[in-house]
Order: sequence, then structure tokens, then C-alpha cells
Amino acid sequence: MKRREFSKLMVALGVGAKTTFAEQSKESSIQPGKAEYYTEPAKKLPVRHFDVVIAGGGTAGLFAAIAAGRQGAKTMLIESKGYCGGIAVEGGTAIHSFYNLYTAFENCPKVQVVRGFPAEFIDTLTAMGGCTGYPEMERGREYDSICTAIDTELYKILAFRLLKEADVFVAVNTMLTGAIVKDSRLRGVITESRSGREAIMAKSFIDCTGYGDLCAHAGAEFEVPNDYASCNSFGFANASIDDYYEFLKSHDALGQMCRGPRSGEENKFVRMGAEQLDIPELREEAEKIGMSMVTTTVHDNYLMYIKCNYKIPGTVVNRDDVAAAEMEIRDRMARAAELLREYIPGFEKAFIARTSPSLCIRRGRLIKCDYDIAHEDVINGRHFDDDTFAYGFHDMAPKYQIKDGGTYGIPYRALCVKGIENLYAAGMMITSDHRAHMSTRNTVSCMAQGQATGTAATLCAQKNLGSRDLKYSDLKAALLKGNVYFVS
Ligand SMILES: Cc1cc2nc3c(=O)[nH]c(=O)nc-3n(C[C@H](O)[C@H](O)[C@H](O)COP(=O)(O)OP(=O)(O)OC[C@H]3O[C@@H](n4cnc5c(N)ncnc54)[C@H](O)[C@@H]3O)c2cc1C
Repeated sequence: MKRREFSKLMVALGVGAKTTFAEQSKESSIQPGKAEYYTEPAKKLPVRHFDVVIAGGGTAGLFAAIAAGRQGAKTMLIESKGYCGGIAVEGGTAIHSFYNLYTAFENCPKVQVVRGFPAEFIDTLTAMGGCTGYPEMERGREYDSICTAIDTELYKILAFRLLKEADVFVAVNTMLTGAIVKDSRLRGVITESRSGREAIMAKSFIDCTGYGDLCAHAGAEFEVPNDYASCNSFGFANASIDDYYEFLKSHDALGQMCRGPRSGEENKFVRMGAEQLDIPELREEAEKIGMSMVTTTVHDNYLMYIKCNYKIPGTVVNRDDVAAAEMEIRDRMARAAELLREYIPGFEKAFIARTSPSLCIRRGRLIKCDYDIAHEDVINGRHFDDDTFAYGFHDMAPKYQIKDGGTYGIPYRALCVKGIENLYAAGMMITSDHRAHMSTRNTVSCMAQGQATGTAATLCAQKNLGSRDLKYSDLKAALLKGNVYFVS
């Protein structure tokens, strides 16, 4: 076989692709000392005015916008994709977690610790047949107590409905590209869409872009820790979850497992994962492509999430590194689908029915805020005198759990971007310690951070305050009105 044919075959198999794509990105990069520049002419931009502007309509941004809109703020949500929901509908497996880890500790009371608008959303989605609600885990009870699995498409539909009801100005297919800052106060942002560039002025701002784009444009301090693998996940259709159960059972490889409502019937498998699978070839191949064999669903013949992980050699904020990774990950997905079809009886005719539009990141920029939640805060179940909500899930359980199956608090200070008067950060961009971040970055925490910042930004905008001038008692009263649960 000629060398070219051989490498083509290897790329098709996902082998050696890293070198090929990495080389491709290296070839096109600008060599030091050879950069050319073009100065853009100044341009007059049309201006719009709002009370609250939220950049990023993903997991956190959706709830920030609903909170601001419902509380009467003139709100704009800027989202680069054509829908809202973010990684909750693109990457995940289950929505972790509205409850404390009560199944892992003796005599631990079961408490729904995250309520408010996120729980209301989940209840409505469940009534639409797009979510399992809160069924209890049968296996993996030391990791999470319940399994909230979603239908990604119904989630997106409900997101738009609620934004409309809350009277939010929803600018989808619109990219945030700049910030207008004066005297440590953010005056406005620049957006770009097919309608052209615009300047959007407001009183309060929330960065929910996951990447921390708005904070970076506004001059906030940040780092890029690059401490996680990136991932694309796909939905696998014509693949019965019951067949998957039989396969795992026959190989004595059943890991996490949960039963709940599926395709209109109760007590069906909705979460399943392989553990110590005794097929070395499959395990080795799956490992090579970073394939996770844990999945959830709310439909009979559909595995909602199959993940392929890949640690980008560069960073997730470099366009060319990401382009190379996008190509690599799509090859991995093709290989993952092949493996599942080859090894799992009943999956022979299954196919990829959904992929994420772009690779999903677990961390982009880490934004410096007034307080940095520490690992000890999380595992010791620390609450603060400016808690915005309580949270009780850790993605590294059972290695790290919150003490006695309790909760810790997300303080208001942890959401205020350092050095900027009227800018909040919500979602995966807060918390520097990787171990603590493995808790705060999870979906339900991001959703609740969204409600907290949307509420705070509205109060500030109504009273023309900077985020540090807001009275905590006013914020807590508004959050309680929004049905947020507090530990004390
Ligand atoms: C692969 C993967 C699997 C995961 N699995 C789970 C799981 O099973 N359970 C769990 O609880 N958590 C899971 N997580 C963690 C959790 O899903 C994320 O941490 C969380 O959803 C992040 O929310 P966010 O709002 O910070 O970001 P996102 O949900 O990514 O939202 C950011 C939004 O901003 C938009 N945006 C970005 N830049 C711009 C811009 N410049 N202009 C306009 N819009 C912009 C994006 O399009 C996106 O919609 C997973 C994460 C990943 C990556």
C-alpha cells in the first residue's frame, strides 16, 4: 500500500489523525516576524438600549435571561447558535443534580436542593414527555442519587417558549465580538450578525458564554487552564436501550443504572453504563477514541448521548487548534458508531442521528471573580453569608463527596467579575481548583447561577447600582420569591 493510501485509511479509522490534522493547522499558521496587518476603518454602528444584556444563551444564560425578563428588566440575550440550551443539550449525559447525594449516606435526608426556575423548567419538560424528572438511581448510588435525563430537542423548544413568555429580546445567530468599557464600568457590547454590527448599551451585563468572551473583551483577568478533554457527543438512533441492558448484563458489566419514564411508560431503563467490560478489543478501541459507554435516554430506540473525548494539544480558545480537534473528534464519532454496531447485538442498523454543532468544552477561560470557591468549601459543605443557592453534587464522587451528603453554597461574590462594576460571570468559567470545578461546572449549578445573576443584574439595573452596591437582603428576598432554596 502506498504511504498516502495508508494514511488515508488510518485517518478514516481515527488512528494517527492527531498528527495529520495538527500538521495541517501548523502549516497554515503565521510564522513569527512575518505577520501582516490591516487597519479597519472606523464605522458608525446602530445603537440599542437594554436594562440587562446576557451574552450566551446556553445552560446558565437561558436561566439568567428568564430571571431578568420575568422580573421586568428589558432584557437582551445574545446567542451565537440558532437555539438556546448550550452544553446541557449538546454534551451531557444527565442533568446533575437537583438533589443532595442522599443515597450514599446512611440516614441522610432526601432534599431537593436546587429549585427555582431550573426545577420549574424540568417539571414542564417532564410533563411534555421530554424528561425523566427525578427517578432514583439503582446502581451508581454513591455517584448520584437521581437521574434527570432529557430530550435535547424538546428542551430547545421549551427554552424558546419560556424566553418569549418572559419577553426577552432573543438575538440568536448573533456573536458577541466586543465590549465598550469606561472607568471600570461596562457601557455596552458589540455584536455581529447577518444584519451587521451593532452596539448594545445596558446597565448590567452577564457573561454566560462558557468561554468568558465578554469578560475577556471587557479586560477582566483570566487564565486558560486547559485542564480537561473536549468532547463531541452524538445521539444514536435505531439502537434499543433494552438491548444495551441485555448486552451489559450478559457480560456482567452493568455499571450505573436507573429506571424511569421512557416513551410514555414508567419503570424503563433511562440510564446505563458499562463497567469492566470483558471484551478487551472493544475496551481498547473505545479507550483509543475516548469513548464513554454511559448513556441516558427518554425514548425506546435512542441513546441520547455517546461521548468521544479528546484532549486538544493546544487550547480551546485558539481557532486553529479547535478546527483540528473538530476534525479529529468527528472521526472518533464515526469509529465509535462502528464499534457499537459491530459489538452490540441489536445495534447493527443503528445510526448517528444528532451531533453537537461544535465541540463541547469543559472549561474555556477561567474568570477572576471576587471570591474563588475552594475545594475545601465544597467538600466541607461550607455555606456563606451571601449564598445565592445550595448545591450538592460532585462529579468526582465517591472520591470527593460533599460532607455527609449535604450541600455547600455558591456565594454572590463568586459571581462578581473582579475589577468591573456591573459584570457577572455565570457557568463553567468560575472556580479555579479543578476538584472544586468538578462540582460547580455541572449543569444544575450553572442553571442556578443563571437565575442568581439574572436576578441580581435586574435589581442593579432597576436601582442603577454596581454589583457590589446591591444589598444582599434584597437579592435573597428576590431569589426566595423565585423559589430558590436556601439552607439557612
Ligand atoms: C462533553 C461534556 C459532557 C458533560 N456532561 C455533563 C453531565 O452529564 N451532567 C452535567 O450536569 N454536566 C455535564 N457537563 C458540564 C455542563 O454541561 C457544563 O459545564 C455546563 O452546561 C456549562 O454551561 P455554561 O452555561 O457555562 O456554558 P454553555 O452551556 O456552553 O453555554 C454557553 C453559550 O454561549 C454561547 N456563546 C459562546 N460564545 C459566544 C459569543 N461570543 N457570542 C454569543 N454566544 C456565545 C454558546 O453558543 C453557548 O450556547 C458536561 C460538559 C461537557 C463539555
